[in-house]
Amino acid sequence: MQLAPNTCATHCPYCALQCGMNLVSAAGRGLKIAPRNFPVNRGGLCQKGWSATELLDNPERLQTPLLRDTKGMPLRAGSWDEALDRIASEIRNAQVCFGPDAVGVFGGGSLTNEKAYLLGKFARVALRTSHIDYNGRFCMSSAAAASIKALGLDRGLPFPLEDIPRAQTILLIGSNVAETMPPIMQYFEAQRANGGSLIVVDPRATPTAQAASLYLQITPGTDAALANGLLHIAIQQGYLDQEFISSRTSGFEQVRHVTNSYWPGRVERITGIPESQLYAAARLLGTAKSAMILTARGPEQQSHGVENVLAFINLALALGKAGRAHCGYGCLTGQGNGQGGREHGQKSDQLPGYRRIDNPEHRAHIAQVWGIREQDLPSAGCSAYEMLDRLGTTSGVRALLVFGSNLAVSAPRASHIEKRLDALDFLAVSDFFLSETAERADVVLPSAQWAEEEGTMTNLEGRVLYRRRAVEPPAGVRTDLQIIAGIAQRVGAGAFFPSEPAQVFAELRRASAGGIADYAGITYERIERENGVFWPCPNEDHPGTPRLFLDRFATKDGRARFHAVEHHGASEQPDREFPLYLTTGRVMAHYQSGTQTRRIPKLMELAPRAFVEIHPAMASVYQIAEGDAVRLTTRRGSAMAAARLTTSIRLDTIFVPFHFAGVGRANLLTNPALDPSSRMPEFKVCAARIEREDHVGKA
Ligand code: SF4
Repeated sequence: MQLAPNTCATHCPYCALQCGMNLVSAAGRGLKIAPRNFPVNRGGLCQKGWSATELLDNPERLQTPLLRDTKGMPLRAGSWDEALDRIASEIRNAQVCFGPDAVGVFGGGSLTNEKAYLLGKFARVALRTSHIDYNGRFCMSSAAAASIKALGLDRGLPFPLEDIPRAQTILLIGSNVAETMPPIMQYFEAQRANGGSLIVVDPRATPTAQAASLYLQITPGTDAALANGLLHIAIQQGYLDQEFISSRTSGFEQVRHVTNSYWPGRVERITGIPESQLYAAARLLGTAKSAMILTARGPEQQSHGVENVLAFINLALALGKAGRAHCGYGCLTGQGNGQGGREHGQKSDQLPGYRRIDNPEHRAHIAQVWGIREQDLPSAGCSAYEMLDRLGTTSGVRALLVFGSNLAVSAPRASHIEKRLDALDFLAVSDFFLSETAERADVVLPSAQWAEEEGTMTNLEGRVLYRRRAVEPPAGVRTDLQIIAGIAQRVGAGAFFPSEPAQVFAELRRASAGGIADYAGITYERIERENGVFWPCPNEDHPGTPRLFLDRFATKDGRARFHAVEHHGASEQPDREFPLYLTTGRVMAHYQSGTQTRRIPKLMELAPRAFVEIHPAMASVYQIAEGDAVRLTTRRGSAMAAARLTTSIRLDTIFVPFHFAGVGRANLLTNPALDPSSRMPEFKVCAARIEREDHVGKA
């Protein structure tokens, strides 16, 4: 379609749906948002998307570097040379005194592929540190680890969204897409209109659950028991696809054995879901011609998140509902570039193209593309929370560079993380605004926003998208690529670091060639012409791969793997002192830590502050009325919020959104218990106490 000369076709800056939008130049520097009929969102946007341009001219926008001369002094304005020289000097000091691993890099799942790629290379080539990880570790890492174990490859959805309406049954676990990414609901609505069934599993009867044909109100932390229980019924009722199991999978017998002990009565006791509903769900899945099983953060952000996801993949495989048209297991990615951000080397154990840093062949390929010796590549570092937990200690990082992440709000056990940030010898943060993390930094670098630079993002379908630059960044602001190149130049590695997105993407294509996430055949021009290109796409004549696993899974022998999984529950269970389950999540008006959306007045009108959802019957036990100020306490600390009484939540559960800073910060409460393989913290379940604020301290 020919666009008007003053119109720029691009994508929303926020979530993993990456809705297409048009930016229309208005008078001056202003930009207006207009609908774009892009295949993902088909013109729709949510409130966040419609207000996104308000970020560009926001009065709180950082427009000059800020420096703190000594700890305890306020930040002051400085020049770019001064800021970058200071960073380079602090890197040198830390590494001379404590070695290369004394410097760490923390990235984000909202960075473009180009930035994620260059940041990974920067850590390994310019800093020679093993310490790089990113906030996607807090987001999709359990689904990623489970998908790799079972299917051989991690791509959020193995099919495009357009396939959803043709799935006869969909099981959606722990996702409130009606609020977090509303335009996706058109696909679920079309599926229902086609006569399909939608089963939603959630401790809260969210707007998504209210759109379901069957809603299962699960006890937090019992997802693996639910999956095993559904498989138990499927076996009992003869719903298995024996032909699929024998021809396309391995390891089923062990799973059959484990699920023997998940009879419906026991699963009802564990999950709180009535037996009749378990049978109904198993029947809808087991008798459907096509079915999809989709997970999100609910089952994933747990200390057994990988096992939870594996249990649901077992169910999909046993029913023969994977690797076929309009079937499959998928993860609904959350952050804007949660998918691409985990493919190109921002993760401590990864190299570009979804290669592994501990694989000699993978290391050799990347070293050759980067023009360094393989032995000069560092080994794997530790995961995000483990790095943060040791900041400023003798064995930990002493100087940290943060790009696009607000750790003081988004990390679990946030008050501890604040102390660790303050214990650093040096902290530099690149951001658009003075986030709660940037406030603690020694150097703050003002970076360009999404409409001010070009680059690619990979959405939840694995579709690589192109964001065009619509306006120049304000004077005084630089892109993250320029910032990385500027620091690299000052530490003597400038020759390795281009700062133009097209150059970086060309290098990323070469680096990813032959890898699992192969972008070699993807160009900016193709993305624009074809409305995105699905990876893997090994060469420019390749059409891309919208649908994975139709012939074989991505394992060595082409078979998917079953994994026998037991229910363990959350690492912290309610007790006398902390009698309720606390779960956290998102609201429609805000994105992640709220650094951006909390600065948009329209969005703040809709959701101005933290609240806690509690069932009215439980509220009456604690003499709490609607709107009362309440104190929430866990073993990590306390937070304050206004009570919101709703019958949509389980009696034993309370819910707090995690977007807010200050006393309403949900992550003051959350438990950093880590999944043993993905190292994902248990954001979704912990034990908590609630008290009306005027009761606190009274006997
Ligand atoms: S659903 Fe996500 S990508 Fe779409 S407009 Fe909303 S925040 Fe942006």
